[in-house]
Amino acid sequence: MSDKIGLFTGSFDPVTKGHVAIIERASQLFDTLYVGLFYNQAKKGLFEVSQRQEFLCESLSHLPNVKVITAQSSLAVDIARQLQATHLVRGLRNQADLAYEMGLAYFNQQLAQELETVFFLSDVQYQYLSSSRVRELLAFEADVSPYVPESVLKKVKYSYDSQETI
Ligand code: ADP
Repeated sequence: MSDKIGLFTGSFDPVTKGHVAIIERASQLFDTLYVGLFYNQAKKGLFEVSQRQEFLCESLSHLPNVKVITAQSSLAVDIARQLQATHLVRGLRNQADLAYEMGLAYFNQQLAQELETVFFLSDVQYQYLSSSRVRELLAFEADVSPYVPESVLKKVKYSYDSQETI
């Protein structure tokens, strides 16, 4: 049988414990799970792409079959084809995610019939967690330790400046 290869994408600005929990669970179902840091150079995030990548790599280093890749202004289905991925992996937190993710999944199905999208329900404690919430908290210099992995925490503890990219 051919390898099962998954691709989980996001902008991870920054990666949260919610993402890590989904990746840990999904990694058990695939021979290889790629985590795709997708970005658009025109859209400036809070963290530089290289920094986001470092956060991801460090927080996922305990998962041997997980590989972090980056892609600029690309369609997930195109990158999935290049990687010979069989599945796209997405997380679902709530009804709003479901509505959005259904649209995306149907769209991707039209673009690439051979790719199946699989959904993982968020862990209950991370149901309301998003990277944008974390960025908001950081802007107010609030404690983000319940929400982000240690790799992110180490950096923001020492160098956060509310309006600037780190
Ligand atoms: P983007 O910044 O590109 O919108 P997100 O981080 O919002 O990326 O989403 C990437 C994927 O991670 C999506 O499938 C989203 O549903 C999932 N996700 C984000 N936060 C969580 C969470 N707290 N629990 C589970 N899945 C999540």
